[in-house]
Amino acid sequence: MKVLRTVLGDVPAENSGLMLSHEHLLYGYPGAELDHRAVLDYDAAVDFVAGQVRRGKDDFGYGTIVDMTPPEVGRHPQFMVDVATKTGMNVIAITGFFPERMGVPYYWRRQTIEELTDFFVKDLTEGMVFAWAQTPYRAGAIKIATGQESVTPMPSPLGPNGRHIHEVEDRVIRAAGRAATRVGCAINTHIDPMDFEVTNPGREQLEILLEEGMDPAKVIIGHAFVPPQLESMREILKLGANVQLDHIGIPWRVDSAEELDEAMAEALVTLLDEGYGERVVMSFDRWFMNPRAGVTEQDPQLLNEKVDLSYMFTSWVPRLKSKGVTDEQLDQMMIYNPRRIFAIDVAEGNQ
Ligand SMILES: [Zn+2]
Repeated sequence: MKVLRTVLGDVPAENSGLMLSHEHLLYGYPGAELDHRAVLDYDAAVDFVAGQVRRGKDDFGYGTIVDMTPPEVGRHPQFMVDVATKTGMNVIAITGFFPERMGVPYYWRRQTIEELTDFFVKDLTEGMVFAWAQTPYRAGAIKIATGQESVTPMPSPLGPNGRHIHEVEDRVIRAAGRAATRVGCAINTHIDPMDFEVTNPGREQLEILLEEGMDPAKVIIGHAFVPPQLESMREILKLGANVQLDHIGIPWRVDSAEELDEAMAEALVTLLDEGYGERVVMSFDRWFMNPRAGVTEQDPQLLNEKVDLSYMFTSWVPRLKSKGVTDEQLDQMMIYNPRRIFAIDVAEGNQ
């Protein structure tokens, strides 16, 4: 039986509805949860996020949101549970880590591949730990992340094994590959587009995962279209993995959302023409709630919440349709592809 492992339990994969493969219900860079200026009115925050999620469900038919927030970036199991309970939306949490330069707390940098594997497997099969306490809420996928983004963003330097991947990230990725193989779950990744200047970061992530025996069909390379580099994406697709088109309506590492949308749409049409329609998923990478949003306005990323979920259907889908993308292709990318990739076959002896 194929299931989606949500924070409220396993649900049949065919109940996915439209899926968003990379979003954040609650998000703050590591340490934000200690900031006086970021203190949450918890109930108001749940209501604020649940309102957006409910509109996405009622007005547009979204059925599942993958909350790609890593444990050290504000992942809050109870928050996800409360939003899911209030809205009926399937919410899939992830285990994994942020890039080494931005995340992976010191404690976890000291762990072996085996210990990291065990951490991920327990999050996926027993339940996540929050603030020293075990919860019964399980993660349903793994996130891995690479890239040099830091206080001063720049492309990643060469790391071990001739890749632009840091030493800690290399260990985390190996552990993720082993844990995902044991559980039968998906891995969705974060790359930094700046690394396209020095390498194909998606291929480098895949190489390590393949060395650990990971099924590439269960891997999504995220941020792959920001901005689109067709040769890099073809290289990833030829290795058997999937690519995620995200930052729809959100300018990241580019000057204008309009220019990025248009470039991504053109690249997508090319990949569809080449027969890759079964290997693309689409998402925003929105922050539904970032307690510092609108406060630090010099960072345009903090304004992400101004792109509403409706943008998919008022702007993005019409743009694709004007280029000849069909309803069948849209359903493939918004329902069937993410459903297939995130499904866990619990009959196969997976944990
Ligand atoms: Zn994200």
